[in-house]
Amino acid sequence: MKLHEHQSKELFARYGIPTPQGKVAYDAEAAREIAKQIGVPVVVKAQVLVGGRGKAGGVKLAKTADEAEEHANTILGMEIKGLPVRKVLIDPAVTAKAELYLGIVVDRAQGAPVIMASAAGGVEIEEVARVSPEKIKRQTIDPVLGLQAYQARELGFDIGLEKKRVPEFVKIALGLYRVFVDTDASLGEINPLFISSEDALIAADGKLVLDDSALERHHDLEMLRDADEENQAEREARTAGLSFVKLDGNIGCMVNGAGLAMATMDVIKFYGGAPANFLDIGGGAKSDKVAAALRLILADPNVQAVLFNIFGGITRGDEVARGIVDALAQVKTRVPMVARIVGTNAEEGRRILASANMQTATSLEEGAKLAVEIAKAGVGN
Ligand code: GDP
Ligand code: MN
Repeated sequence: MKLHEHQSKELFARYGIPTPQGKVAYDAEAAREIAKQIGVPVVVKAQVLVGGRGKAGGVKLAKTADEAEEHANTILGMEIKGLPVRKVLIDPAVTAKAELYLGIVVDRAQGAPVIMASAAGGVEIEEVARVSPEKIKRQTIDPVLGLQAYQARELGFDIGLEKKRVPEFVKIALGLYRVFVDTDASLGEINPLFISSEDALIAADGKLVLDDSALERHHDLEMLRDADEENQAEREARTAGLSFVKLDGNIGCMVNGAGLAMATMDVIKFYGGAPANFLDIGGGAKSDKVAAALRLILADPNVQAVLFNIFGGITRGDEVARGIVDALAQVKTRVPMVARIVGTNAEEGRRILASANMQTATSLEEGAKLAVEIAKAGVGN
């Protein structure tokens, strides 16, 4: 679950990280009032759960309250990367000498959080990471010990901070690490971390991504979820009780079991294909659930083939097959489908699907190869 910038910065502030004290407006008039209240100049910032708002014109400086109203009007009518802007943050503007980057992510390869910093912060950090990765400095955090002050100091010196600014930087880095741990975040980011004209460090942007599996421990944070901001596929999956992650390949996958779904994606990749999604329909999937899953998969225009990989255990193969046939009657499509069913009542299941004109396979290898071939031929849609 992603938090909005203003929510992240409110949390940051509680952990001693200096942030501009702004307010949220849902209409242009309120934006003007806030600008008057907190004093101009202000920045008007779209609150949508995507990055790159600055580049998309969703962050604008206003020198007067009138201008703040105008900008809010424009920004509140915008869509950024497909998401409508429904609220703006009005922050006191900061005059900046430099824009730093500071972020913490869970590094799966190392099995530990990594803190990263760069003197080349701002809107182009992805570009910096790609073109000159040496400008991004890192420290691996021992999860038992936590981030140590000496590591934060080293990071500060590594990115070329003046000595007098290092203690403040250390305080911010330690604060960011504490909020990251306390909220069970998978990402905590400040970009930009400004060096203001008054020589103070200030977090002008904030981002926290929380681990959905840990939200059970954070009911207060879960309440911050903005259902408007979830993309439609994610929302449908959540309400249908499906684990769904959209990916950018062209082979839709429908699998019962998370481990099997991972294996299916691996095998598709092994044979040169690209999965369009991760999807676990769970055990005992009935036709309604299969239909919901199929709709989700087919809503993606990239999908050129669908691979069902079903292992019949407690879930019987014939039952799942009937579920698929029922689902196909509900969801009209011309995208070709391949089904691999093994286990309990698999033969019966394959017979049902074959009579519904679906290609069937017994091994995952066979099924995946077939799906990759079909997707390459690109006859779908
Ligand atoms: P993002 O593009 O979605 O990451 O949005 P940011 O909040 O990072 O804003 C984008 C850019 O707008 C920043 O990198 C700054 O260059 C600029 N910006 C944001 N707030 C201020 C501010 O208070 N003063 C000034 N001068 N620029 C700002
Ligand atoms: Mn930013």
